[in-house]
Amino acid sequence: MSFELTILGSGSATPTPERYPSAQFLVFADHYILIDCGEGTQVQMMRYGVKSFRMDMVFISHLHPDHFLGLPGLISSLSLKGRTEPLDIYCPKGLQEILDVQFLFGEVHLSYELRFHIFKDSSENIEFEDKNLSVLSFELSHRLACRGFVFKEKKTPRKIKKERTDASKLPPEAYSVLRNGKDYIDTEGKTWHSEDYTIPNDTPFSYAYITDTLYMPQLANRFADIEINTLYHEATFMNDLKEKAINTFHSTAVEAAEFANISGANRLLIGHFSSRYKDLEPMLQEARDVFPNTFLAVDGARFE
Ligand SMILES: [Zn+2]
Ligand SMILES: [Zn+2]
Repeated sequence: MSFELTILGSGSATPTPERYPSAQFLVFADHYILIDCGEGTQVQMMRYGVKSFRMDMVFISHLHPDHFLGLPGLISSLSLKGRTEPLDIYCPKGLQEILDVQFLFGEVHLSYELRFHIFKDSSENIEFEDKNLSVLSFELSHRLACRGFVFKEKKTPRKIKKERTDASKLPPEAYSVLRNGKDYIDTEGKTWHSEDYTIPNDTPFSYAYITDTLYMPQLANRFADIEINTLYHEATFMNDLKEKAINTFHSTAVEAAEFANISGANRLLIGHFSSRYKDLEPMLQEARDVFPNTFLAVDGARFE
C-alpha cells in the first residue's frame, strides 16, 4: 500500500513567503487526507499538484489560526467546482460554529455535505476505522486543546502466497479466512490449510503527526505497541530557545529527535518552524546529532 505525504505548510504562527502555516496532504490506505489547513492551503495544493477534489477526510489538530484558517476558502472553492461527495471533518468543538457563521453571513450554499466529527474530551480515541485504515487521536499539551494523530494501515496477519500455482483455485470465501491464519473447509469437505497458502504479512505502516505541544516523552510509552514508521514532530525552536519553547508550549528540534529515538520511529520529519529561522540547516543538524534519519518537512517536500 502506498504512502505519499506532501508538505503544504511548514511555518508556525507567522507565515513567511517561503513557509505557509501548517498543512499536509496524505495519500494512504485508500484515503486522501488533509491534516491541518493553515491560511493559503488551497493555493499550496495547486502549487504542489495535490488533487484536492479527491480529499475525503480533514483532521484539524486545534483552533489556533495557523492550523485552520485555510478551511473556509478551500471548502468554498470545492463547492464552486461542483463537488457532490460529502467531506468528513474531524475537529475540536467550535470549528463547526466558526464555519457556520462564515457561510451564513457570506451566503455560501455548499454543493456538498460537511460531516463534522467532534473530538471527545478523552486522552485518546479511535476517530476512524475501516478495513484499510484506523486513525487514533490523542491529547497533546498546548495552550489550547490540541490533538495529535496516528494514521495506521490495517492488515490481516498473513498474505496469500503468489507462487502457489493452485492458489488461483482457492474459493473466494477462503481468502479472508486463510489470511487471518485459520484453515478453510469448502463445501465438498476439502480443507485448505492457511500455512500452505499464506505467509506472514509485513508489519502495518503507520504515520504519527505531533504538532503544537510541549515535549511529551510519556507519549512514547503509550505508543509502545504501535510501530511508528514515519513521525512528524513539531520543532518550532532550536535548543538555545528551550525556555521559550516551554513558555509557549512548543518543542525544540532536539526534543523532536529525542522523541523519535524513544518512540522507535524509523524516520523523523520536523516542521512548524519559527519565522525567525531563515536558514534551517543548523536546526536540521541539531536534530540529526540526536536522530540521524531526520528530514526537514519544508513546503513542497514529498515523502514516500
Ligand atoms: Zn501552530
Ligand atoms: Zn498552536
